Amino acid sequence: NLEPSVDAYSPDNLLIFGVGPLVGIFPGAARLNVTAKSPLTVLGDSNAGGEWSPELRKAGIDYIVICGRSDEPVYLRIYDEDVQIKNARHLWGLETWESEQILKEDNDPKAKVASIGPAGENLVRFASIKFGHRTAGRCGLGAVMGSKLLKAIVVRGTSRLQPANPEAFIEATKQALQRFESSGLKSGLGGPIGGTYGRLWFRHNNASMMFTKHMRTGFWEEAAKLDPAIFFGRYKIKRIGCWGCPIRCTCYYEIGEGKYRGSFTKIEYGEIAPLSAGVGISDLDAALKLVQMADRFGMDTKSLGCVVGFAIELYEEGIINEQDIGFPLHWGDEENISKLIETIAFRQGFGSVLAEGEHRAAKIIGRGAEKYDLTVKYMEPHEPLRAQVGNALAQYLSTRGPDHLRGACHAERDLSPSEAKKFFGHESIADPLSYENKALAVVFFEHIAALADMLGLCKFFTQWGSMYRLDVKMMANLLTTARGIEYKDAELLMAAERVINTERAFIVKAGIRRCHDYPPRREFEEPFPNGPFKGVKLDRKKYDQMLDEYYKLRGWDPSSGVPNNSKLLELSLDDIAASLASCLQVSQQGREAEDTNPD
Ligand code: SF4
Repeated sequence: NLEPSVDAYSPDNLLIFGVGPLVGIFPGAARLNVTAKSPLTVLGDSNAGGEWSPELRKAGIDYIVICGRSDEPVYLRIYDEDVQIKNARHLWGLETWESEQILKEDNDPKAKVASIGPAGENLVRFASIKFGHRTAGRCGLGAVMGSKLLKAIVVRGTSRLQPANPEAFIEATKQALQRFESSGLKSGLGGPIGGTYGRLWFRHNNASMMFTKHMRTGFWEEAAKLDPAIFFGRYKIKRIGCWGCPIRCTCYYEIGEGKYRGSFTKIEYGEIAPLSAGVGISDLDAALKLVQMADRFGMDTKSLGCVVGFAIELYEEGIINEQDIGFPLHWGDEENISKLIETIAFRQGFGSVLAEGEHRAAKIIGRGAEKYDLTVKYMEPHEPLRAQVGNALAQYLSTRGPDHLRGACHAERDLSPSEAKKFFGHESIADPLSYENKALAVVFFEHIAALADMLGLCKFFTQWGSMYRLDVKMMANLLTTARGIEYKDAELLMAAERVINTERAFIVKAGIRRCHDYPPRREFEEPFPNGPFKGVKLDRKKYDQMLDEYYKLRGWDPSSGVPNNSKLLELSLDDIAASLASCLQVSQQGREAEDTNPD
């Protein structure tokens, strides 16, 4: 019902909080999707875990759709059937953690809180929404919430959730948990250190996937200074997890000494990498402080790390100077990087330009800054993928902009050639530098990711995380026993395909075409200067062929990337087919189309 042309900050924009049918009944199914027209990219869609979504279901609610705009700051209070809009003037301007604490004290200590910080209030285009220790980070949905003057949503639900067929559901759950166990999915994500930080830090660096100095390279020479073993040895760590999760993959920590003493938060690989390697900070405490600033002010760490790296690169290239920013800015300069982050959150001076996101900031700055713009579909990337060809296709195609949670191709990192042959029929899928058959794997992982999001499952539980975890059949069994309605694998796969096509149609109507499905220039033109993949870059011609193959598998027009009428009708998306017909007619020049205006 939402027109893609709507302004993200218009009262007409819809901000939707959606919770899947397994949430609150399957252990660890605690995810929700927040969706709106994005102020950063086009389709704003961000997924978060924690405890908020099961609480919402316990209050008897699966979806909240926020429309319009308040005249003054408010928060929404949901206590089972009792729904009230309450004044939030006393909370406006507060950081996320502060407002959460006050709202719990004022309402119910057991209530769960979704809130925005100053960045959301100040319409920073990559502002996040915090759900306790979890975050809907990507796509700037915190700014949409801020534009509606909605500071928070407080939820308390007291009903008991029951699957429709308890005995069969318990059996399906047992089978799923056994599958986790046998696939190596263990408490804390396994390994001696655990957590995504412990598990992925060196793994990603060795695969040249570390977002280093605005993606100039993927291998950070100083990675050992932030060895997760140091983190685990230095801080008081508490392992926490989303509601009911047996894995509890998250590390919550407190800095006990030094100049950042007393600060505490949780940490993930995707948070610390862009705000350490991404901006050249090799001091662990300093990097952790930047992550905390992002959390407190309510900003996406991935976009923030990219945007700050962009500013440093422009400074070093002489495109901007001290007069523009108000202070010098160099890689690893923790004091001035902190200062810059604060000016972004509060939209002060040059920070207000960067608060527009990298694409719009490059246009405002001019003077050749556009050459350093890494965005795809106007959103900042978070890992270089020159040596991960399938992941490059998956991320740069993604409907919301470059991101691993919509599409991925983990098979090229995780499988042996014989396993790749077994699961996909092609050994080449296990080779990260091969372009062969990668489109096939990307389509598969997109469907698994869409199903996990629809059901409210953590993606780590599914084949997105490992081919040995929940497959479509097991997901169908869980859904069938949870709802008491039979779902077949093929129906679930078709539902996933409908999601991908509906999302694609939305962004197509906003002007997105084939030309927006390509990596940033740097991935094609600048070979890695160091590390195990030194000299490697993406091959444009082969990427083109891979994209052709993907469009063919999807049933999309190869020259424009617009879904074909016949495919949409096959998926019973008749309304969308009718509304897209004109896009298909005028998009035959799509391959060469000029970049559109994101606004
Ligand atoms: S594995 Fe981690 S992210 Fe997934 S549900 Fe458990 S605690 Fe949450």
